[in-house]
Amino acid sequence: MLLQTTNIRDRQIKEELWACIKKWDTIIIHRHVRPDPDAIGSQCGLKEMIKATFPDKQVFAVGADVDDLKFLDTMDEVGDELYEGALVIVTDTANVKRIDDDKYKLAEEWIKIDHHPLDDSYGKIEWVNTNASSCCEMVADLWLTFPNDIVMNEKAARLLYAGIVGDTNRFLYDATSPYTMQVASELMRFSFSHTDVNNQMNVIKPNTGKMMGYALEHFIVSDGGVGHIVLTKDILRSLGLDESETHAIVPLLGKIEGVKAWAVFVEQSDSEYRCRLRSKGPIINNIAQKHGGGGHPLASGTHAKDTEEIEEILKELHQQVLAHQVESD
Ligand code: AMP
Repeated sequence: MLLQTTNIRDRQIKEELWACIKKWDTIIIHRHVRPDPDAIGSQCGLKEMIKATFPDKQVFAVGADVDDLKFLDTMDEVGDELYEGALVIVTDTANVKRIDDDKYKLAEEWIKIDHHPLDDSYGKIEWVNTNASSCCEMVADLWLTFPNDIVMNEKAARLLYAGIVGDTNRFLYDATSPYTMQVASELMRFSFSHTDVNNQMNVIKPNTGKMMGYALEHFIVSDGGVGHIVLTKDILRSLGLDESETHAIVPLLGKIEGVKAWAVFVEQSDSEYRCRLRSKGPIINNIAQKHGGGGHPLASGTHAKDTEEIEEILKELHQQVLAHQVESD
């Protein structure tokens, strides 16, 4: 027995969504900027699923390629003219400003498929399920809802599995549900090598290893249990790293004993700081939102314009951890 949601509205949206996909001959799938495995997996997994079900449709996945994720899939080149008379589907992207790229506006109709808290409303059909561990889980759930209508294949299953592994940090995070495990097990029935996928996702460059060493040596933890580290442009330069390669240190600080919430600040070329926030219990996406960002209750992101704003964010994290402590006592 599948532990799918019994929410009637959710079922209706999936029916509307699949009926809409059936109607269009050209479908272009976008996802968020700076993609992670869940963004690429949901985008390209959906593409492969639609292609396997409707071989006559033209289906494309677009956006900037990311070197580290090319082992999952690469992007298609699509000219502006193809958007005329096309359906655009955007996966894993809460707000329009994070859609990669702007060409989605040229399409006649949009669909949103996302597991982040509803931030920006966009799309004729919006399927948002914040209980899903990942957007890949949602795409696989679409297949499991209509298994007689939708064809899953090895390529799509591999992509969707990779996205679930990525967003749950290998089934570690709280959002991992019994249904997540069921979906993963259904995908694992296809003959891709899940060991290869896991190993490829585990690989880090030697310089990334050095950055992890730096982070473990220099992190700061406050008395209340707020961990943080700031990586300036100078530090990145000395480690021979690019800003885009810093995501590997984010889960590291959460491993330190006593850390309840943490922040990783990375200075950008424009001297603003990208800020990644994580928590083991206190809600932190309200802090991200206050500073112009967003995300999930326990995993979100924003920007800080200078060191003063960094201090403000840390102070707010501290207050949130304290408030959570009081609630739990
Ligand atoms: P990251 O820290 O980049 O791994 O992002 C964690 C979560 O926060 C993801 O689900 C993102 O969608 C969300 N997020 C990160 N940065 C932003 C931002 N600037 N605005 C809105 N959401 C964000």
